[in-house]
Amino acid sequence: MNKAEKARAVTDILRKEYPDRRPLLNYETPYQLLIAVILSAQTTDAGVNKVTPELFRRFPNPADLADANPAIVEEIIRPTGFFRMKAAHIIKTATALKDRPDHSLPDTMKELTALPGVGRKTANVILYHIFDTPAIIVDTHFKRVSKRLGFTRFTEPEKIEKQLLRAIPRELQSDLSMALNLHGRRYCFARKPDCGNCPLADLCPSRVTPAS
Ligand code: SF4
Repeated sequence: MNKAEKARAVTDILRKEYPDRRPLLNYETPYQLLIAVILSAQTTDAGVNKVTPELFRRFPNPADLADANPAIVEEIIRPTGFFRMKAAHIIKTATALKDRPDHSLPDTMKELTALPGVGRKTANVILYHIFDTPAIIVDTHFKRVSKRLGFTRFTEPEKIEKQLLRAIPRELQSDLSMALNLHGRRYCFARKPDCGNCPLADLCPSRVTPAS
């Protein structure tokens, strides 16, 4: 089975396992999703969801956040870690967005990654969830699970992304990205993967067989 065939088989199984593949970050507008993804660096989605209601209540659109007092923003997002740097990034990003028509986000990787605090992973989340563009979203879960399943041997996110963009059919890329992320949270844990209950066990070269 080559990578494309395997991706199809894995995606078929995981589409059923995870019918809801929306982001776990709470948001109501594209601007809010972008800010939430920037804040999610080095922390959990649940942690971000705890601070964004207050952040978006105080600063509901880019124009509000662009004019914000950094100390107030820092205090609100402090629990997400790296809060000074993140506050600076989201205020600068809001400044770059505030004069765009309807506060729309740019729709290209180049423009998105030009925004402060926006790397390829964040840009790919936006390209997929806001613009419905096929994307390989390499986060810590995707990286671990795709390696265990034999899709890649690389460890650098950009190399993984580029390799899988070539190897995996476009129509599968986004669903596979989100599904492998969810799979890493539900079965394929970093320390003790739950291979005994994993629906991908028959396709996985890394499955751990319980000692008899
Ligand atoms: S069989 Fe085990 S290692 Fe393979 S994907 Fe499932 S949980 Fe992960």
